[in-house]
Amino acid sequence: MTRVTLLAGGVGGAKLAEGLAEIHEVSLTVIGNVGDDEEFHGLWVSPDIDTMLYTLSGRVNRDQGWGLADESNRALEMLNCLGTNTWMFLGDRDFGLHIYRTERLRSGDRPSDILADIASKFGINSKIVLPTDARVQTRVLTDEGWLSFQEYFVRERCQPEVLELSYNGLESSKITPEAEQALMETELIVIAPSNPLVSILPILKIPGFHTVLQKATAPILAVSPLIAGKALKGPADRMLTSLNYRADAVGVAHFYENIAAHFLMDSNDVELSDEVSKLGMKPYTADILMPDLAGKVRVAHEILEIYKTISRVGSKC
Ligand code: GDP
Ligand code: CA
Repeated sequence: MTRVTLLAGGVGGAKLAEGLAEIHEVSLTVIGNVGDDEEFHGLWVSPDIDTMLYTLSGRVNRDQGWGLADESNRALEMLNCLGTNTWMFLGDRDFGLHIYRTERLRSGDRPSDILADIASKFGINSKIVLPTDARVQTRVLTDEGWLSFQEYFVRERCQPEVLELSYNGLESSKITPEAEQALMETELIVIAPSNPLVSILPILKIPGFHTVLQKATAPILAVSPLIAGKALKGPADRMLTSLNYRADAVGVAHFYENIAAHFLMDSNDVELSDEVSKLGMKPYTADILMPDLAGKVRVAHEILEIYKTISRVGSKC
């Protein structure tokens, strides 16, 4: 068994999580992103964590990569009929999960315990843990002013240019014991091909997280979400450009240069290898497109093969 801990956002992160979870010799823990969380209709919604729950329990809508399969939207129809603004898509059974989570939060239960119970009731074999029990919320500055992440992402469909990002609540947050244990006890830490700015940074910036990563002995491998300078879905490439970062694998590697010693990017980007090396990271290339389950498992196997070469080199020292 190889213990792997994956830092992940929503759809891109869940793709790799599903591939790793399919491999019997991997024992997987996912540390998810809470930066997208927001209250809707009085309920606490945690979109990236729910995408992970739905994916790893086989309930996800595979066409979308998020939400539940065979979902209906009668509750939203009623809210709409009553004149409520319903731009955030929440399905009927999805509402059930948000009601359950919110009810338990109101009764004072710890967010990490609630998540562990949901994952267990969903029959998920991998662990999904929260990076923090505090509320950390990504905010997006556009020319319309500061928006919540979901206002930018869903309501405005990522159209406005991103001028600045901030992560509310970060200062008073701290890493959970579950995330700390996962990082300290794992054999390999993987940063998923998720949006670095709004899926991974809200995890890495949690006070204490970086220190634990430095103490952890497992090698750290980051996987590029950009292939040939393009995001496969979502605004990562445009966001990087607007914020004056390079929108390619090197631009992504730059975020992880002080954290990850290993960087996996697509074979199409092989000419960027030297620049990644110059950042002090060891570059690896493979086909990292995950269009289906076979693709997800292929990338997961690539990662395990890289891990084997790293641990062989390590054992010579
Ligand atoms: P979100 O929270 O749902 O936006 O998802 P993430 O932040 O976890 O992932 C979004 C990123 O996943 C985007 O930047 C995509 O480029 C990346 N992504 C999606 N599919 C793939 C894939 O098949 N391979 C790779 N390498 N990246 C992907
Ligand atoms: Ca997300």
